[in-house]
Amino acid sequence: MPEASPAPVKSADPAAPVETCPRCQKTLPLCVCAEIEPLDNRISLMVLQHPREQDQDLGTARLTVLHLKKAEFRVGLSWPSLTKALGRPVDPNRWAVLYLGSAKPSDFPTEREVVVLDQKGEPMPNQDRELSEINGVIVLDGSWSQAKTLWWRNAWLLKVKRIALNPRRPSLYGKLRKEPRREALSTLESVGVLMRELDGKPEIETALIKTFARLLHRYHAVKKAEKAAAPPRPRRRRPPARA
Ligand SMILES: [Zn+2]
Repeated sequence: MPEASPAPVKSADPAAPVETCPRCQKTLPLCVCAEIEPLDNRISLMVLQHPREQDQDLGTARLTVLHLKKAEFRVGLSWPSLTKALGRPVDPNRWAVLYLGSAKPSDFPTEREVVVLDQKGEPMPNQDRELSEINGVIVLDGSWSQAKTLWWRNAWLLKVKRIALNPRRPSLYGKLRKEPRREALSTLESVGVLMRELDGKPEIETALIKTFARLLHRYHAVKKAEKAAAPPRPRRRRPPARA
């Protein structure tokens, strides 16, 4: 997911610890998880989060997992196999990892939002068949470079199918995060597209997008309140000229 993150939400008293929600791990002013009911999904989800993914405020991986009955959340750098990561035996041929890498969505068939790629990052010839074989998806959560690290440190990811998104709508993040590419969606949005296209459940996407909109709404409200409460900034002095 995108690289740069805005400054974290602060407590009014900088010395006081900010309370976090045990369910979604957001600070209480940003917690929107009370309204989330887990939905039935046929396609399983597993999110692998890089341990240094730091965007506690706007990160959406945990929220995504809360929306689905069949979803796992793992934090770490490497796992010996898909079965070990999941904690149950599965056929890697029936799983897919969402990883764009250096592939270019402009090369993808335009009518498709989810594309199966070969080892070289090019679209596979029989998309419908490849997609129909998938019954579980892996999403790598972190910045672009963190996702790349996860990709390289887990050789078993080469044994599962590789998929990428060519989303029709840009992310709701808007300018909140610097998106190096248009296809940089939040985890909530990415999984929404996957559940609509692979699981045939647009209602899951609708629920995910609603949660994301609520989170962004809260975030803007908190930032506005912080700005209003902040004392005026002292004027910056110019650094002394070097001798
Ligand atoms: Zn919560």
